[in-house]
Amino acid sequence: NVIRVLCRLRCIGADSSSPAVIDRLWDMANALVDRSRPGDFNQALMELGATVCMPKAPLCGECPVKQQCRARRRKLFGKPAPMPDVEDCGFGDCPLCPPATEPWDSSLGVTNFPRKAAKKQPRVAQTATCVPERRGNHGALEYLIVQRPSSGLLAGLWEFPSLPLAQGLQEEKQRQVLADHLQACIGWPVAAGDLQFIGEVIHIFSHIHQTYVVYSLPLDGDATLDSALSPSRWVTEEEFHTSAVSTAMKKVLE
Ligand code: SF4
Repeated sequence: NVIRVLCRLRCIGADSSSPAVIDRLWDMANALVDRSRPGDFNQALMELGATVCMPKAPLCGECPVKQQCRARRRKLFGKPAPMPDVEDCGFGDCPLCPPATEPWDSSLGVTNFPRKAAKKQPRVAQTATCVPERRGNHGALEYLIVQRPSSGLLAGLWEFPSLPLAQGLQEEKQRQVLADHLQACIGWPVAAGDLQFIGEVIHIFSHIHQTYVVYSLPLDGDATLDSALSPSRWVTEEEFHTSAVSTAMKKVLE
């Protein structure tokens, strides 16, 4: 709420989450705050945003700071406030002004502000994943899962052995790199020809459009794990669902 009010008061049209804008908003808040009653001032600013300077339909006519609001002035008079000295503004490459590609849109009025960063297109990625399975002691199917590294995407979660694929890799080569990866993960020789292609699963992370190319690998019931290698364990379907696994891996199992 406060970011919205301050951006409108000063026509700040750059991405409101950028460091330059955040710094300037803190400067403004520090300059404006009532030193004797800072709590009341903060509350008032938040409530102004929540009840008057609302995101879609601000009540500018009833606003107690309308005389100081540059966004309202711009809406009423159709032009920006007089330009400050170029040294003060950094005009031309100003970190606070709307980017040249997204100029003021008169149909939006004061709701031109604040601006959010343009959403980046998610990166397209492909991962080969293998679901090794065996019959456990009591005849139930068990699946092998391994733990991801403790940092990075999905840190520390459990998954079926997986590895990112280079773009355009042929299926035969995919099988081979996956078989090599499995061998390194679990410590048994794995023949690429034993991997059975099952299908593809698409999962959209906030910044990655991920396609899992899914294979299965039936193994003997006595297949044991080498504890010296990466953390891994056999789980029943029930245990899989109660483990720390991602939604993507649940889709893969399905
Ligand atoms: Fe928000 Fe309008 Fe008030 Fe400006 S005049 S602070 S845009 S409600």
